[in-house]
Amino acid sequence: MEIERAKVLGFCCGVRRTIKMIETALSADQPLATLGAIVHNTTVVNELAARGARPVSDLAEVTERVVAITAHGAPRQIFSQIKARGLQIINTTCPIVHKAQQRAAELTAAGFTVVICGEENHPEVKGILSWTDGTGIASLSADLKLPPVDRGIALIAQTTIKEEFFADFACQLASRYNKTYKIKIINTTCPEASYRYSEAEELAKRTDAIIVIGNRNSANTCNLTKIAGGKGIAYHIEQASEIDPSWLKGVKRMGITAGTSTPDGLINEVIKTLQRLVNLQSAVY
Ligand code: SF4
Repeated sequence: MEIERAKVLGFCCGVRRTIKMIETALSADQPLATLGAIVHNTTVVNELAARGARPVSDLAEVTERVVAITAHGAPRQIFSQIKARGLQIINTTCPIVHKAQQRAAELTAAGFTVVICGEENHPEVKGILSWTDGTGIASLSADLKLPPVDRGIALIAQTTIKEEFFADFACQLASRYNKTYKIKIINTTCPEASYRYSEAEELAKRTDAIIVIGNRNSANTCNLTKIAGGKGIAYHIEQASEIDPSWLKGVKRMGITAGTSTPDGLINEVIKTLQRLVNLQSAVY
């Protein structure tokens, strides 16, 4: 069996930047709290926690003097709450997420009702929504109940949404409301995530099955699994130990891809485990 890695997989520039910022703070012997998982990967979170970056789910739990905002960003009011407590902020919000927040704020100020094509409970979306001053709405379905509309509707996207999904959402929204309201569409999807999605699709066509590595709460890893699964067989794992040897039966070429917060170490471990299983199988058969 051959193993083929996707041309681009694992850490994106936003996640690398976030980890670097946290490591820099820790190297100055500065223990800190992170508001939520710093990125959506348990291995990365545990490694950084062991070095002094403690994840907390609420600002009230912070006992450190420094608080880090995660790559997904945070609701606007969190920043003033942190300042009010006299704590230092390390803002690791990915610049691409920050851009989406800024667009939401500008469009709201211009009188538009912002619609975010995304998961309303995802931390990134909650953060972007906070920049609409409570006037925006997030949904994965264009069949939504619109809040009051003044000047028009402005549609933006959760950064990790697949571009084709966003385009389809935009068409549905437009066909429903373009006779009633002015509609502005701004593509805020992330090119890094999009590139990984198209690569996963191509890899799925060239291989008999694909293993997707990353946390189950990682939006882009789940999207990768869905995309690869749409073209063939896709297995989503968080750890190498989850590989079932029966997946290899009859497979001549196995593809590997990984979410934007999956570290190289995990990817290499999966590849080594597969190689070991292949050797074992050829010894048996
Ligand atoms: S996937 Fe894109 S938006 Fe998300 S952290 Fe990475 S670079 Fe930033």
